[in-house]
Amino acid sequence: MAIRFKILGSSSSGNCGLLQTDHCRVLIDAGFSGRRIGEMLEACGESIDGIDAVFLTHEHSDHVAGLPGLSRYRKLKVFANRFTAEAVRGRLKNAIDWQIFETGTRFAYRDLEIDAFPVPHDAHDPVGFVFSNGGDDLFNPHRSLGWVLDLGYLPEGVKERIRQVDVLVMEANHDRNLLQNHTKRPWSLKQRISGRHGHLCNDSAREFIESTPGARWKRVCLAHLSRDCNSVDEVNRTFTRSLEGAFPHQLAVVAPGAETPFYDFP
Ligand SMILES: [Zn+2]
Ligand SMILES: [Zn+2]
Repeated sequence: MAIRFKILGSSSSGNCGLLQTDHCRVLIDAGFSGRRIGEMLEACGESIDGIDAVFLTHEHSDHVAGLPGLSRYRKLKVFANRFTAEAVRGRLKNAIDWQIFETGTRFAYRDLEIDAFPVPHDAHDPVGFVFSNGGDDLFNPHRSLGWVLDLGYLPEGVKERIRQVDVLVMEANHDRNLLQNHTKRPWSLKQRISGRHGHLCNDSAREFIESTPGARWKRVCLAHLSRDCNSVDEVNRTFTRSLEGAFPHQLAVVAPGAETPFYDFP
């Protein structure tokens, strides 16, 4: 049984993950143009034709920009809740095979079990995901991936769900000072980003990571960095204590414009 995962790209300007199991290949968000996603897949030996489904967290363009392009290739199976699907539908010319789920429920797709839970963010009905596979016998251990991008803070229900995943992809969107001192952003936008339904700052991400003893994480990817108000260096500085080995998790900061290597679940 093989399951592997990679981030094709993640930042405020586009997000897309690729999860492969023995029985499916799925994209998590599709926030680059269809052509760009096609190139990214080819660069890692995959192709759009090999993708079975796309899972959407919410309707913001850095998560759905690829749908018009991807749907041109063929009728695509897209999992989303009703409000997200309705918000995206108007932007599409081609047929989508919508698979509507209810926020707050678990459902199955091939050999994956998906937990879609609400997150606080300024979209119609934004969700985070936990994808699980296996666990039915000794030779097929339970493995899981958490995908939590775009949220203003971490409610207890979200913390509870992502504490026990093997691989966690979590937002470290901005540095508070860089955001407040940014001269080109209006005050209202700064309020929106730093608000309870905006984006997670580096300090909030660190507080959670460092205050969660007993977490199962084998890998934590810090992602969705803002190009203007954050940098890999800034995140590294915030997480110095974790990176210096006080915590056993393997932290990886995902640079805007970069992909991650495949992570093979043991
Ligand atoms: Zn968003
Ligand atoms: Zn986003």
